[in-house]
Amino acid sequence: MTGETGWQRHTEAVERLTNSYEQIPDGAPVRLAKRTTNLFRARAATTAPGLDVSGLDGVIEVDTEAGTADVQGMCTYEDLVDVTLAYGMIPYVVPQLRTITLGGAVTGMGIEATSFRNGLPHESVLEMDILTGAGEVVTTTPGEDLFNTFPNSYGSLGYATRLKIKLEKVPGFVALRHLRFDDLGLLTKTIAQITETGSYDGTQVDGLDGVAFEPGEYYLTLATWTDRPTQAPSDYTGQQIYYRSIQERETDLLSTYDYLWRWDTDWFWCSGAFGAQNKYVRRLWPRRLRRSDVYMKLIGLDRKFGIADKLDARAGRLLRERVIQDIEVPVENLPAFLEWFDAEIGMRPVWLCPLVSQGVSTGSTTEGTKWPTYPLEVVRTYVNVGFWGTVHVGPGAVNAPKNRAIESRVHELGGHKSLYSEAFYDKEVFDALYDGDNLAAVKAKYDPRNRLTDLYSKAVKRL
Ligand SMILES: Cc1cc2nc3c(=O)[nH]c(=O)nc-3n(C[C@H](O)[C@H](O)[C@H](O)COP(=O)(O)OP(=O)(O)OC[C@H]3O[C@@H](n4cnc5c(N)ncnc54)[C@H](O)[C@@H]3O)c2cc1C
Repeated sequence: MTGETGWQRHTEAVERLTNSYEQIPDGAPVRLAKRTTNLFRARAATTAPGLDVSGLDGVIEVDTEAGTADVQGMCTYEDLVDVTLAYGMIPYVVPQLRTITLGGAVTGMGIEATSFRNGLPHESVLEMDILTGAGEVVTTTPGEDLFNTFPNSYGSLGYATRLKIKLEKVPGFVALRHLRFDDLGLLTKTIAQITETGSYDGTQVDGLDGVAFEPGEYYLTLATWTDRPTQAPSDYTGQQIYYRSIQERETDLLSTYDYLWRWDTDWFWCSGAFGAQNKYVRRLWPRRLRRSDVYMKLIGLDRKFGIADKLDARAGRLLRERVIQDIEVPVENLPAFLEWFDAEIGMRPVWLCPLVSQGVSTGSTTEGTKWPTYPLEVVRTYVNVGFWGTVHVGPGAVNAPKNRAIESRVHELGGHKSLYSEAFYDKEVFDALYDGDNLAAVKAKYDPRNRLTDLYSKAVKRL
């Protein structure tokens, strides 16, 4: 669906969406009726009909000359990349999980290995159409209150129906260098140096992420786009497992497509919890079902039936606390955070991804201002640290002591925490961290009858 047909289908889909908005009774929450999610906090159940997002999941048009694409809000990155790669292009930042949607990543803070030079997904958006809480579709551009406040608002200001984004040209392959470090200071210095210069050892770096496997065993993976492969590309969608290859090889080559989805096949390393990394199970596990959305569904079943808790109780193990978070700290504070994390949480591996926010660009100046709802310092190097697992805590697990400790430590170190998972802040702290006053003012303007659930209620109260 691209070009003229794309625009026509888009208009029809938006009409369906606005009609479905009208059908939701006053007082009932307005929610998306969407099949996939990458949100990790459980949401309160509702019996009210959701917004009809059918037909809002495609690419409307690619402009190869301008290097832009008009994309519908619920288009998954998997579908988006299928279209753009055919033109030899990709979005500036492609989050690792196939079913993350463009709208979800922009409103919910996606990140990937290009973030050290391209920022976060919302920073390469040129224009958005948003269905506001008032039921109107508003077009908004950088510098406007709705546009600026939207990233990290998680649908509390409205739902993006169309986004015009920038695309980057890419060749067919990606050459990888896996650098090992045993010293956190040197790791940090290297991240800062690559972020500043865009190269390492005289070779350009196009993508940069890393893994901390154990205290004293850290890797950075340097990706360089290339159209001159010197070896056959590896395949980690079969029996081989990508994250293990980082420890096993110094260099590697992947097709660009496989590089983009290298983390999806095993949901980073989390597929191990379902046995998918056991060589016998893996042989029987169909390749098309080795995907993050399949594991997400399995987690949903575990939560519904309390399977892990029952097995722990039977085995006499302490009750688990789920510690599933992505946080950012300034690069110079990465050693302090990781050392604290090892001592207090003790979960490994963790994912590392440097990022530099360029801020809100208004087109008139090169350096932007901070995004109000996720106020990273502009042009400062942060490192995203992602950890997704459980810690055996005991009966106190229900009070989330580890998650609360992480929130405190991150803020002591000048960091920020994403809100796709559980959060425990009180309202005052939350408002200070995510500019609650600005959020409330923008929400009052675009959602005067308060049809949409506000961000604090979504992120902390799980409403
Ligand atoms: C274990 C785990 C690991 C993760 N790792 C990464 C990672 O490595 N990189 C990364 O980039 N992200 C990661 N994420 C976070 C993910 O990008 C965000 O949760 C994102 O919001 C998910 O997008 P989605 O399209 O799946 O949206 P959903 O899960 O469906 O929705 C997320 C929120 O966004 C709102 N929303 C959805 N679509 C729209 C729209 N069109 N307009 C406005 N609001 C909308 C929903 O109301 C909801 O509040 C991770 C999440 C999990 C659970």
